[in-house]
Amino acid sequence: MQTESLPYYRVLLIFIGVFILINSPIQAQNTTYTLVIDPGHGGRDPGKPGSSNEMMHEKDINLAVSLKLGAYIKESLPSIKVLYSRTTDEYVSLQDRADFANENQADFFISIHSNSSPKSSISGTETHIYHHQQAASKRLALLIEEEFREKAARKSRGVIDAAQRGQNLYVTQYTNMPSVLVEIGYLTNAQEEAYLNSGYGQALISSAIFRAFRSFVQSTIPTENRSSFYKVQIMASQQPVDLEKASFSNLDETVIEYINREAISYKYKYLIGREYDFQRAKALLKKIVNLGFKDAFITKFEEG
Ligand SMILES: [Zn+2]
Repeated sequence: MQTESLPYYRVLLIFIGVFILINSPIQAQNTTYTLVIDPGHGGRDPGKPGSSNEMMHEKDINLAVSLKLGAYIKESLPSIKVLYSRTTDEYVSLQDRADFANENQADFFISIHSNSSPKSSISGTETHIYHHQQAASKRLALLIEEEFREKAARKSRGVIDAAQRGQNLYVTQYTNMPSVLVEIGYLTNAQEEAYLNSGYGQALISSAIFRAFRSFVQSTIPTENRSSFYKVQIMASQQPVDLEKASFSNLDETVIEYINREAISYKYKYLIGREYDFQRAKALLKKIVNLGFKDAFITKFEEG
């Protein structure tokens, strides 16, 4: 009986704690930061669909948690300007999400997703970053997972980078600022799906991310160098190349066209990837050469 009543009691205390923390005044800050909150999926892309008609799709859960998170921040951290990559059920491409954050010169980027797995037994939260060496992203990610574990009584699966995952996530890779992608739980796990569908679960999750973000901006933010990065040039051409054409279609990376109108020849350049780490750029080059782009090479870019 004791063991069964404990979680309810603990959770109630957490809930009270959430409101005290949210409503406590914070120190005024001189610095104004811009945060982009990115609710994953939307519109024709539902993400993980609900397991029944009663259950929300991933896109709707992501949006609900994102809007709550933004509301907490606007209420308690007036020095933070909050922007959303979407506020309604609309489709936004991954590139548009990253471009939106970059064009608005955001200081921080938080993407909200819900996870899925073929194994229904898997549950818990994960925060994804580009690379463990990126100090600011890593610090924010660790704070988020700590809040989930310590205050929201969630099972934390930790902070995961692209090397551990085996692939980059577009929005953590192509944004110029410290970026995290939070997987707030597994919708393929019945208990977590029910939790993430509840207003109560959504409030606990978003307030945990809020507190982590507040700790992050109120402490010294580590620097994170994203000013230079590597891309792989796969082709240059005198004439524009159809990006849908066959030779590009077996690439899982997005091909981006760069046009240099001043160039005498080869005005059109086609590049992929955005790696902040030379070893990863070399790995990408190797993959591309093996796919048949024998003349591909690495180029280094400086921001701006
Ligand atoms: Zn997702």
